[in-house]
Amino acid sequence: MKVVRPRVRDDLAALEGYHSPQVTVDVRLNTNESPTPPPPAFVDALAAGVRDVAWNRYPDRAATGLRTAIGGLHGVGAEQVFAANGSNEVLQTLCLAFGGSGRRVVTFEPTYAMHAQIARTTGARVVEGERTDDFALDPDEVRRVIDAADPAIVFLCSPNNPTGVVDPPEVVRAVVAHAAERGILVVVDEAYGQFATWSALELVDDDVPVVVTRTYSKTWAMAAARLGYLVGPPWLVAELDKVVLPYHLDAVTQLAGTLALDHRAAMEARVAEIVEERGRLTAALSDLPVRVWPSGANFVLFRPTTRPGRDVWRGLLDRSVLVRDCSSWPRLEGCLRVTIGTRDEDDRFLAALREVLA
Ligand code: PMP
Repeated sequence: MKVVRPRVRDDLAALEGYHSPQVTVDVRLNTNESPTPPPPAFVDALAAGVRDVAWNRYPDRAATGLRTAIGGLHGVGAEQVFAANGSNEVLQTLCLAFGGSGRRVVTFEPTYAMHAQIARTTGARVVEGERTDDFALDPDEVRRVIDAADPAIVFLCSPNNPTGVVDPPEVVRAVVAHAAERGILVVVDEAYGQFATWSALELVDDDVPVVVTRTYSKTWAMAAARLGYLVGPPWLVAELDKVVLPYHLDAVTQLAGTLALDHRAAMEARVAEIVEERGRLTAALSDLPVRVWPSGANFVLFRPTTRPGRDVWRGLLDRSVLVRDCSSWPRLEGCLRVTIGTRDEDDRFLAALREVLA
């Protein structure tokens, strides 16, 4: 029998997936995870809680306990919180509900590649605006792109991945004001929000079409759990129920996310340590033949000036140090991105980099 393989959707045929290599190395600084795990007291509480899970029953579909706890963290009610399997699933749910076929989604590049990727896989057309040479948002360009594209969704990302730039409040406010008058949803991705000096959470309001997405994967040191959420207007959160799968968030994830919030002080101490270590790493990089961009997150973007970025990436990998290779990404030619690790990991990275660049 001759088998004819089903063809993938025409609009997906040209798309490549989003991949960060998962290879076994000594020093893994490529996916902006926390270098240290959550406190043992959290792990103990979770282990005890897992024993009490009603395994034969579906989990709480509305994740009420978790959403109430997250709401408590931000001073809002559960009806303003939507949680899902990583903030990527939050973004996907937003795109399913507000983007999709026949609609446009605007990004400002370079930024987190999954914004465009998720918008496309959910059927929308992506219109890419540009950031300035130093990766800032230019309010005039933002307005121009929005007016030309007439999008359903505008993605912002602050601190931005992979550049580390924090967008100033007045710029984000201006984007939101412009979008609000046109029925456009603004999504502010704050996966690295705790590293910034301000948060767009202060813009969230019943009558403003803005949502702020956050994740447990970075500052909460829980990338293994796959949990993210958004804070937004209740009417918008209610719409998301129309597209999200029933019982999408399993009982253990809900429990983990709720218990983690008991350890907020440990999270904040972790952020402070990473920021201090970021200062040390940035200063050390400045003594090497690389261009370094100042970062407001837990990673640093840099471009070797004497050797191609790809070769440097390979040289680091040969020394069992894995960083993110952005060298072939548009607008980031030759650039690499290193996550802030422990002091030991960063020293190993610096030693390897010195060797490669020698
Ligand atoms: N947004 C940004 C800006 C990110 O960098 C990441 C992770 N790399 C995510 C969202 C997704 O994180 P998660 O799905 O683990 O919450």
